[in-house]
Formats: sequence, structure tokens, C-alpha cells
Amino acid sequence: MKKIKCLVTAGPTREFFDPVRFISNPSTGKMGIAIAEAAAKFGWEVSLVLGPTNEFASQNIHTINVVSADDMLTESSKLFADTDILIMTAAVSDMRPKITNAQKVKKDALKMLLEFEQTPDILKTLSQQKTKQILIGFAAETENIKLYASKKLVEKNLDAIAANSVADKNTGFASDNNALILITKSGKEINFPTNSKRELAKDLIKTISQEFFS
Ligand code: C5P
Repeated sequence: MKKIKCLVTAGPTREFFDPVRFISNPSTGKMGIAIAEAAAKFGWEVSLVLGPTNEFASQNIHTINVVSADDMLTESSKLFADTDILIMTAAVSDMRPKITNAQKVKKDALKMLLEFEQTPDILKTLSQQKTKQILIGFAAETENIKLYASKKLVEKNLDAIAANSVADKNTGFASDNNALILITKSGKEINFPTNSKRELAKDLIKTISQEFFS
């Protein structure tokens, strides 16, 4: 049987405004790496586009390291056409400086230079090129979790979205644990109660396989 080709994105992105300063977020990529590992153990062929983090995946996972949202879009686009399922866990920086300075900016000039623009929405861009691919997004929210996640599911034309609370210190960013609700396009809600990211990833891949590939 042909192996399912899975593309996972994970970690934060960094948007530099000069060689020594950037905008980012506290994502460690642990959830995405756990998903990549679980998918590989499940028998899928896995590629991982990974933002800057100290975490890493096993050698059987084809890992492409990236820095910015633009890099992540470029590398993910290269793999997308030949992908069966994209699981986009990356915490892409929402904003980036309008101008990246080649030299370190002097402190007193910083305020004047900091103008921002939105980074490209990778998931939305790729969902517009969708042919056969199943697209799964992640929504980290601090409130109205299900409502905001469901909106993103529609806006980004996804097959499912995994919503989690980052307000709770015991789950979400940098924690070894997480809790998720997977909301599918057809309106199904599947709860994954608090568990280690590793165990949760296994359950999630099993469920995704049943929902979309059986
Ligand atoms: O940031 P937001 O809550 O909209 O993210 C929801 C989903 O969209 C996540 O899966 C995230 O990886 C993805 N995303 C993206 N490109 C962005 C922002 C978010 O692909 N610029």
C-alpha cells in the first residue's frame, strides 16, 4: 500500500528587523514534533518544516529548518503538491517589521523604524492550492476557544482544526502537556483531554486517520 505523505509545520517563526532583533512567540514546537513522530510511527512518510527551536525530531523525519514566515511558506509550498495531509501546528508570527535593516539599528532610532505588516497566511495560501490534500490547522486561543477556532476552520478552508487554550499554564505553549478539541468541517467535535503531548499526538493521528483515510 502507498504510504500517506504527511507534512507537519512546527515551532515559531522569527521576523527580524535588524541582525540582532526579531519578533516571535514562545512556541517550542513540541506539539508539532510529537505529531510528526506519532505520524511516522503510524507508518506515514513525514516531512517537518520547523521554525527556530532547541527541540528536534528523529532522523527518520525529513526535517527542513526555517526562520521566517516567508521561509516556512516557501519550503511548505515545495512539498505541498505531493502531500496527502498537512498538519499546520506552527505558531507563525502574525506580524513582521515592514523593513529589515541590514545593520543594527541604534536604540534612539528604534521607535521611528518599527512599522509592521502582516506575514503571509501560510495555511490560507496553501488551502487555495488544495487538490487532494487534507488540511488540519491549530488554533491557540485564550478565550472563546471553540468559536474562534470554528471561524478559522471556515476562513482558511480547512478539513479540521485543533483548538487549544493557551491561557492555562499546564497546557499549551512550552508545556509538556496539552488538551485539544478537534473540530471537523462537518461539525464533529472530538475532545482530547489533558495528556502528555506525546500521548495526545498518538491519539490525534489515530483519530485523523479514521476520520480522513478510512
Ligand atoms: O494565527 P491563527 O490563530 O490564525 O492560526 C491558526 C492556524 O493558521 C494555525 O494552524 C497556524 O499554523 C496557521 N497560520 C498560518 N500562517 C499565518 C498564521 C497562522 O499558516 N501567518
